[in-house]
Amino acid sequence: NNIVAIVGRPNVGKSTFFNRLIQRREAIVDSVSGVTRDRNYGKSEWNGKEFSVIDTGGYIKGSDDIFEGEIRKQVELAIDEADAIIFVVDVEDGITPMDEEVAKLLRKVTKPVLLAVNKVDNAMRQQDAIEFYNLGLGEYFTIAGMSGSGTGELLDKLVEVLPELPDAVEEENPLPRFCVVGRPNAGKSSFINALIGEDRFVVTDIAGTTRDAIDTKYNRFGFEFNLVDTAGIRRKAKVKEDLEFYSVMRSVRAIEHSDVCILVIDATRGFEGQDQNIFWLAEKNRKGIVILVNKWDLVEKDTMSTKRYEDAIRKEIEPFTDVPILFVSALTKQRLLKALETAVQVYENRKQRVATSKLNEIMLPIIEHMPPPAVKGKYIKIKFCMQLPTPAPQFVFFANLPQYIKDPYRRFVENKLRENFDFEGVPIDVYFRQK
Ligand code: GDP
Repeated sequence: NNIVAIVGRPNVGKSTFFNRLIQRREAIVDSVSGVTRDRNYGKSEWNGKEFSVIDTGGYIKGSDDIFEGEIRKQVELAIDEADAIIFVVDVEDGITPMDEEVAKLLRKVTKPVLLAVNKVDNAMRQQDAIEFYNLGLGEYFTIAGMSGSGTGELLDKLVEVLPELPDAVEEENPLPRFCVVGRPNAGKSSFINALIGEDRFVVTDIAGTTRDAIDTKYNRFGFEFNLVDTAGIRRKAKVKEDLEFYSVMRSVRAIEHSDVCILVIDATRGFEGQDQNIFWLAEKNRKGIVILVNKWDLVEKDTMSTKRYEDAIRKEIEPFTDVPILFVSALTKQRLLKALETAVQVYENRKQRVATSKLNEIMLPIIEHMPPPAVKGKYIKIKFCMQLPTPAPQFVFFANLPQYIKDPYRRFVENKLRENFDFEGVPIDVYFRQK
């Protein structure tokens, strides 16, 4: 997927615009999963072209008194990582010094930059918008984030200028694709080095290095797999790593390209905001997930500590708690083989296809025993179910009145699927449809 970053100073309407872009898809996803997470990353689609959108502003807390430097860092990171940038300004404020700063950075960029002048909802403001030519970014698009007017033209242009991505090469190389993600200093490189040692694929500082994720094939402990690396784009490392959305921005491409994400967290710090962002990024992309609590050698242990630690993490990742959590040390190489085995197992879990006969044989009696609650005296009957032939597991249950089946029941069905089949580490979708 192409990645589109929305940049601009606080309060120009970035998040309203972002919500509009991801709305249609997001509505579907949320109604299925019943949860709303990480409103700063989502998928959008226009004229049949799908892309990911990141609202850089969404990761700033207390965005009113944000430092100029902070915005600058966000923009630099977006420039580094995204395929296209939408720069949002506010017609009510006119050009502010901070807008000028951002424009100065964006003028140097060779990738597509679209200037969106927001809050243009009448003819007078159309006039006012003309001043934004002075930013030196060429043509601009006037939009009104609230009503959505103007968005269509901007999106037409966006999908036109997005680079063509090469088709996925899955067929040629059907090995599991793993990516190792986590916030800075969690121990990702140490883990990879401990696992694959000398062969570590090193990407040098080549100008114009491909922005695409790179698969490198390995064979370790009898397992063949690809590690997805985006190291090629880690060039201008002047961007500070303390940004809230740093890890997300850095991980998006690798996660989208993988089958299973190995999320490395630092045991001495616990499962924090950045870890959560990455976790939900993987979940939202319906990728397999393994959590490695690294640096376990540094933690003072008593008999209960592992259990307590594990419970605390599971609490943070509710309701998707059916995820393997391993306590490892990249330093002492403790449980590294186990980590790899688990990632392979999660890959297999995600790939599995449950035969329709077996699925019905197991699930229908459960449903019959505990049917969805009747609504207004009407009984809801589920007579048949099947797994769809999708890359990540999706199940459809056919019902006479699917619209009356509520989320708690969907979750009940998901739990029963998890009890009867091994989907550990794998997000699954359950749909109810008219038969
Ligand atoms: P990355 O930014 O996630 O790739 O993190 P690094 O692999 O560079 O590790 C960050 C720091 O943590 C380095 O100083 C490592 O030596 C240290 N480190 C990584 N894994 C472990 C571990 O399992 N135990 C201990 N004690 N230190 C570790």
